[in-house]
Amino acid sequence: MGKQYFTITYGCQMNESDTERINGQLAELGYTEAPAMEDADIIILNTCSIRQNAEEKVYGKIGEIKRVKEKNPDLLVGIMGCMAQENKGKLISRMPIIDFVLGPYHIHDLKEVVEEELAARQHVVRTQMNPERVKDYSELRAERKSRTFAWVPIMQGCNKFCTYCIVPYVRGRQTSRTVEDIVREAEGLAEEGYKEITLLGQNVNSYGLDFRDGTDFADLIRALDRVDGIERIRYMTSHPRDMTFDMVDAMADSPKVARHMHLPVQHGDNEMLRRMNRGYTIEHFMELLAYVRKRMPDIAVTTDLITGFPGETEEMHQATLRLLREAQFDSAYTFIYSPRQGTPAARMEDQIPDDVKKRRLQELMDVENEISLAKNQAMEGRVFSILVEGPTKQDAGHWYGRTSTNKMIIFPKTDGLAIGDMREALVEQAQTWVLKGKLV
Ligand code: SF4
Repeated sequence: MGKQYFTITYGCQMNESDTERINGQLAELGYTEAPAMEDADIIILNTCSIRQNAEEKVYGKIGEIKRVKEKNPDLLVGIMGCMAQENKGKLISRMPIIDFVLGPYHIHDLKEVVEEELAARQHVVRTQMNPERVKDYSELRAERKSRTFAWVPIMQGCNKFCTYCIVPYVRGRQTSRTVEDIVREAEGLAEEGYKEITLLGQNVNSYGLDFRDGTDFADLIRALDRVDGIERIRYMTSHPRDMTFDMVDAMADSPKVARHMHLPVQHGDNEMLRRMNRGYTIEHFMELLAYVRKRMPDIAVTTDLITGFPGETEEMHQATLRLLREAQFDSAYTFIYSPRQGTPAARMEDQIPDDVKKRRLQELMDVENEISLAKNQAMEGRVFSILVEGPTKQDAGHWYGRTSTNKMIIFPKTDGLAIGDMREALVEQAQTWVLKGKLV
């Protein structure tokens, strides 16, 4: 049997996308995907450093891999992604079973490292930030998991330095791919039969600002709107500071741009936003949100919230509850603040006790769940176009698809249905997180 790889991904969609490119490089070397870790000739962990517990999970997994390597001493073990960038050679000193450590800018090097350097059984560490490599991302073959939608990274890194976030330190300064390179990738995907693409960036609204020639996210949207065969364009994540009214216009003018916007507000209090270094006020956020809904009345808006940030008083927490009621998000991902070593917020005084954080989180979730359910109930009895994604995990007789607004509708499978079909579905019953219905 030929050589086999096993990759495990931690963290965000950017990492999911990077893993597809990592697997693509291994496929070019003749590797195929192993059914289990124990069958693999090479194991790669594509890691995340956003939270401390994400790192702990990786150390636990390396412990498991150690036992696999004891049975198969030829096994190659690689650490890639943000933890590789952050910890560099320290990872190998701490866990010598690791053969190589490659930062996020070194996916291009994987084939060379596996073929040449590791043949000599040397440890390899490559973590220099090399922004130029981002520009020719379309050269990297990707082994895509989904046959219906494709991730398309449009940039790397971030310049915003939110005080709780490690990303600018491990992914470096923002580097955008060119519009031409991204359009070329989208055209290739359309030729392969993909109907939906999701543009990925830590802050898509600052796309192109590093070119300093006036190119921005609105230009990219307008260029992708012209790619035949692509029927839906999604993007994540947006930033209220960099989203302009012109970008909202570009989205509203394109029927291909999905009517879903994930716009993280993070908090309902201006002093908290200032401490987080978010660079906008609640007044600006609400003005932007009103414009988004004016131009795209059918849009679903979701958000992220952090509770228990250092210095958060009870009044500040109440301001976030008020914001939720006023903004009426379709859903909100609520996170308890946890200090991330190496960030300014971890050194701030007035850290909030865990029991207070937990109580505040529950209060936010209670308010938002009611709103999310009411929003979904308003869809009952209506018909929506969905892109069919396949069977649900629990029951092969029930399939699901997503509306343009990113709502999941579960329905009984019908004859002749295929993954990737665009179909019409009637919503019969709404729940907080999903909708149930049937194809019509
Ligand atoms: S915008 Fe803020 S939260 Fe998002 S990646 Fe950049 S620094 Fe982190």
